[in-house]
Amino acid sequence: MSIESLAQAAFLVAALLFILALAGLSKHETAKAGNTYGIAGMAVALVATIALAIDRNIESLGLILIGVAMVLGAAIGLWRARVVEMTGMPELIAILHSFVGLAAVLVGWNGYLLVEGGGSPEEIALLTAEGTLGIHSVEVFVGVFIGAVTFTGSIVAYGKLSGRLKSNPLVLPGKNALNIGALVVFAVLTVWFVIDPALWLLIVVTIVALALGWHLVASIGGGDMPVVVSMLNSYSGWAAAAAGFLLGNDLLIVTGALVGSSGAYLSYIMCKAMNRSFISVIAGGFGIEAGPGEDKDYGDHREVSAIETAELLRNAQSVIITPGYGMAVAQAQYGVAELTRKLRENGTTVRFGIHPVAGRLPGHMNVLLAEAKVPYDIVLEMDEINDDFADTDVVLVIGANDTVNPAAETDPGSPIAGMPVLRVWNANDVIVFKRSMASGYAGVQNPLFFNENSAMLFGDAKDRVDDIVRAL
Ligand code: NDP
Repeated sequence: MSIESLAQAAFLVAALLFILALAGLSKHETAKAGNTYGIAGMAVALVATIALAIDRNIESLGLILIGVAMVLGAAIGLWRARVVEMTGMPELIAILHSFVGLAAVLVGWNGYLLVEGGGSPEEIALLTAEGTLGIHSVEVFVGVFIGAVTFTGSIVAYGKLSGRLKSNPLVLPGKNALNIGALVVFAVLTVWFVIDPALWLLIVVTIVALALGWHLVASIGGGDMPVVVSMLNSYSGWAAAAAGFLLGNDLLIVTGALVGSSGAYLSYIMCKAMNRSFISVIAGGFGIEAGPGEDKDYGDHREVSAIETAELLRNAQSVIITPGYGMAVAQAQYGVAELTRKLRENGTTVRFGIHPVAGRLPGHMNVLLAEAKVPYDIVLEMDEINDDFADTDVVLVIGANDTVNPAAETDPGSPIAGMPVLRVWNANDVIVFKRSMASGYAGVQNPLFFNENSAMLFGDAKDRVDDIVRAL
C-alpha cells in the first residue's frame, strides 16, 4: 500500500477520533476520555501529514522547519496550558483562535503567490482551460477573508476578556451599515478577483476583513462575550476548512467543518440561554442600541459585618448561595464548601443557584464547587431555582454581579437588558460579597446593592467566608 493511501486512511481515523472527542466533551463524566480521543486524533493527523510530506519529496529545509515549528509550538502550548488559571481560560482560547485565523490568511496568501501571482503562463493557461483557476481564486479570497475576520476579532475578544480593552460595546455611527457594506465589498471583490486575480484586490480584501473582524467584536459588549468566544471558535473552524480546500487536505476540511458547526451550535444554545438573538450577536450586536450613561443615582447602600452575617445565617431556615466570578478569583470555593457543611449540620437547607454564564467560562462554577466537594444534588441551574428565592431566608451572592442584576429585567436600555438573571432580590435578606461598589464584567452598576433588603459584605470573598465560618 502506498504512503499516500495509508495517509488518507489515517486521516479518516483521525476524523473519527475528533468526532468521538466532541461527543466525549459534551458530558462531565466523559470529558477526560473526549480529551484523550482529541489528543490521539491530532497525533495520528500529525504523523500522517509529515509522512505524506516526506513521500512527496519535501526539501530537507522544509522538514527542518516543520520540526522546529512543532517543538516550539508544543513547548509554548504545554507551558501555557500548565500555567493558565481557570479564570484565564476564555482569553487563552481567544488568542488561540487568532492563530487559526492568521494561519488561514497566510495559507491564502501563499496560495495566491504560488498560483495566480507566481504560476508560469503555461500553468495558468492549463488551470484556466480546466476551469479550476476560478475555483482556486475563490478559495484564496474566502480563506483570507474568514481568516482575517477571525484574527482581529479574536484579538479584540482576548483584549476584552483579559481586561486590556474596555468591555463596553463600541457604537460607531451607522455600525450596521458598516458591517453590511464590508460584506458587499467582499462579494463584489470576489467576483472581480475571479475575473482578474490582481494583487491589489487581495490586499484590499485583507484590510477590509481585518477591519470588519475588529469592528464586529468591538461592537459586542456586556454579557454577550461568552457567545462571542464560541462564535469565534466557529469562525476559526470555517477558516481552517477554507485552508483545507486550498491545501487539498481532506482532514483539515473535515476538522474545520466539525469545529465550525459545533461552535455555531454552541453559540446558538448560549444565545437561547441568554435570551439573545443569534443573528444579532453574529452580526456584531445588530439592532442593539447603546444604553444610557451611568450617571443614575441609586441611593445609599448598607454594609454588614461577617459576625452579623453569621448571626443571620444561624437563624435562617433556608439559604441559597449564588457564586460568580469573584468566588473564582478569591478561590473561595473551599471556604464556601466548609460554610455549607456547617450550615447543613445546623439543620439549614442550603442550595446553590448557578447562572449559565457565571464566571468566565461555561460550567465554571460547577467545576469549582465540584473541586471543593460540594454535593452535586444541591447545585441547581438557574431555571430550577429561580422561583424559590421568594421562599428563601438568606441569599449569599458571593462574587457575582451581572448574573444577579435586576436591571436586566427592569431597564430596557441596559447593555444586559433581556438577559435572564437569578432573582435573588426576592429573598428576605441578600448579602453581597465583594470588595467595592465596582461594576461587574458588563460595566453596568447593579441596583440590587441599593435595595433595602440587601447588605454589602466588603472584602476578599475568601477572607469574609472564612470569617463567617469561624464565627459560626
Ligand atoms: P461579574 O464578572 O459580573 O462580577 C464579579 C464581581 O466579583 C465583581 O463585581 C467584583 O467586584 C467581584 N470580585 C472580584 N474579585 C473578588 C474577590 N477577590 N472577592 C470578592 N469579590 C470579588 O460576575 P458574574 O459571575 O456575576 O458574571 C459573569 C460575567 O462575565 C457576565 O457578564 C458574563 O456574560 C461574562 N462572561 C462570562 C463568560 C462565561 O462563559 N461564563 C465568558 C466571558 C464573559 P469588586 O471588584 O468590587 O470586588
